[in-house]
Amino acid sequence: MGDASVIIDLAGRLENPGESISRTGTLEARSYTVGDKELGVPAGISYDVVLTNAGDGILVTGLVRAHAEGTCDRCLDLARVEIAGEIEEYYLFQAPEDTEEAEDIDYELLPEDRVIDLAAPIMDAVVMDTPFVVLCRPDCQGLCPTCGANLNRETCDCAEKAERARVESDENPFAALKNLKLDD
Ligand SMILES: [Zn+2]
Ligand SMILES: [Zn+2]
Repeated sequence: MGDASVIIDLAGRLENPGESISRTGTLEARSYTVGDKELGVPAGISYDVVLTNAGDGILVTGLVRAHAEGTCDRCLDLARVEIAGEIEEYYLFQAPEDTEEAEDIDYELLPEDRVIDLAAPIMDAVVMDTPFVVLCRPDCQGLCPTCGANLNRETCDCAEKAERARVESDENPFAALKNLKLDD
């Protein structure tokens, strides 16, 4: 992700409850990881957010979008994923006094200088919207486990051969032995 950031300086802004500002732009990330998968986002991640003074903090809501590219989980070809995720982040002015209650809310504290970086919540929203299984197309046929043929583009007779061998060995229990090489 490098030093891609979305810095928003709220010094002297959003000081009264109900006030809001909106921001749109692109986070210049080039790739991100989900579990052990890496996905590229060559055009970056676009965001469209509204920041509102919600009384006890700044609420950030909005949408993130990206054209992500990864590797198909079945056939290893290029897979494209359209990301359209929702962002929601709460920057409290003060930590809640009731610590038990605080454990139940997902929040950050608004820094003293009121400067926040939305890069992390934007990335979180993208990760949340990335499907667990990434496919080049919904009906991807995958690779043949025996010969490795890409079954989207070609056919192989491995399944047929295996079935024939199975039937033959059922009919003749010694058929499987004929290919065995014995040491003398
Ligand atoms: Zn595929
Ligand atoms: Zn095959």
